[in-house]
Amino acid sequence: MSDTSLTYWQEKASRLSIETRAFIGGDYRAAASGECFPCVSPIDGRVLGQIAACDAADVDDAVRIARAAFEDGRWSRQAPRERKAVLLRFAELLLARTEELALLETLDVGKPIRDSLAVDIPSSARSIAWMAEAIDKLNDEIAPTPHDRIGMVTREAVGVVAAVVPWNFPLLMACWKLGPALGAGNSVILKPSEKSSLTAIRIASLAMEAGLPEGVFQVLPGFGHTVGAALARHGDVDCLAFTGSTRTGKLMLKASAESNLKRVWLELGGKSPNIVFADAPDLDAAAKAAAYAIFFNQGEMCSAGSRLLVESSIKEDFVRRIIDFAPRLYPGHPLDPASRMGAIVDDIQLKAVLGYIESGRREGARLRLGGEQARKESGGYYIEPTVFEVEQGHTIAREEIFGPVLSVLGFDTDEEALALANDTNYGLAAAVWTSDLRKAHRSAKALRAGVVYVNCYDDDDITVPFGGYKQSGIGRDKSLHAFDKYTELKTTWISLD
Ligand code: NAD
Repeated sequence: MSDTSLTYWQEKASRLSIETRAFIGGDYRAAASGECFPCVSPIDGRVLGQIAACDAADVDDAVRIARAAFEDGRWSRQAPRERKAVLLRFAELLLARTEELALLETLDVGKPIRDSLAVDIPSSARSIAWMAEAIDKLNDEIAPTPHDRIGMVTREAVGVVAAVVPWNFPLLMACWKLGPALGAGNSVILKPSEKSSLTAIRIASLAMEAGLPEGVFQVLPGFGHTVGAALARHGDVDCLAFTGSTRTGKLMLKASAESNLKRVWLELGGKSPNIVFADAPDLDAAAKAAAYAIFFNQGEMCSAGSRLLVESSIKEDFVRRIIDFAPRLYPGHPLDPASRMGAIVDDIQLKAVLGYIESGRREGARLRLGGEQARKESGGYYIEPTVFEVEQGHTIAREEIFGPVLSVLGFDTDEEALALANDTNYGLAAAVWTSDLRKAHRSAKALRAGVVYVNCYDDDDITVPFGGYKQSGIGRDKSLHAFDKYTELKTTWISLD
């Protein structure tokens, strides 16, 4: 049996022991209320375990512990190089546990095991390691003040950080926040989505094993309206780093305004335009990238290229190339290393995506591919790669679907393409395909998005910032800019008189 077979992973899954409790202080424990909720695998509807359903009482405990840890300096006052050593060990432990963590991720959210192994876990470890490497290389500033004064500008950890994250890349979205937040010396409380608690719970003990002191990193599984809301409203949480939907992001800002004005950073939804001009350098490569841009991770991607804008003269040819390629991404068993598309995260999301497909049909969009539920006999939640030709007014052309549904629009001029691209409340990502250097630069400047791809899609690296314009968010994850979220700037004046 090899790690390239379905049987290998099924066998491994059958022997996997799954931790389901919260991690508070330095230990795993049940929620204060004793309540649990079922963890259902979207692969086949099987219950994997009963997860601790934390609530406001657990939040109070965890915040008190986090505050004490921050104040006594057990982590916040360690030398940067010491924090770096611990976080590098943490990253190594994540990598050493790649198979176990990838399996947990796939069982929990249904993404293909090949992606969990190749993307989620290594990228998570890399983002922790990169931030760890950075922390003893960031200098503070001395301002050019008058001769008899020194103006020092220093960064200090903000204090207690709550990280509230979604389910599409559970570990990776958490690590984008943990790296800089822990690196800067904060105490962090992680709240995973109720749809994807398993890797968050598991890594708490790995962080302790790496040498993170007790109380510096805690994990509170549970629901948004209980744990999430209690963290957002808590008077002793200094910073709320959120990734999720725009709707919930707005609630986070409101909760901050109505409590202690904690810093709120938002990584939110998108409806990203992928513009293909007739002079794109390689239409086959562009079509393949356009398919991956929407079907990778079952379309459960904040940056999904969900709106394909194609110049009218090549539209039919281009759509045909996507339709020819897409069946290779048809959903398969997520534990089969050959599968390139897996299951939708749960039955709620399945129904939401099918509802959008239905609205496309009802509003007169032209279905070109897919549109049906797949693998029903499995007991899990799967949807075919789906392509619609739409008009700008259609619901599926405007709203984030967060599933494998592509909306295709035609355009005749550059101006029309850019106007259509920017006609959205979102501004996370955008792409443009052209051989014309000036058109590429002009378009990239005109697109109101935090990330613009030219002749590529979904390139990703920890070295560059990621985040959105407009209602796609506030602030940036990744790169050295991420430290801005988790630090306060302090100005200290010193008189030399
Ligand atoms: P969501 O907003 O439903 O939930 C996100 C998190 O917030 C979860 O942990 C959830 O439990 C919690 N939550 C829900 N309601 C809450 C409340 N009232 N108070 C406090 N917390 C609450 O989003 P989701 O369905 O988990 O994730 C999908 C969304 O995330 C999509 O819109 C996607 O575009 C976005 N996303 C954005 C990025 C990015 O970097 N911009 C990355 C991944 C996902």
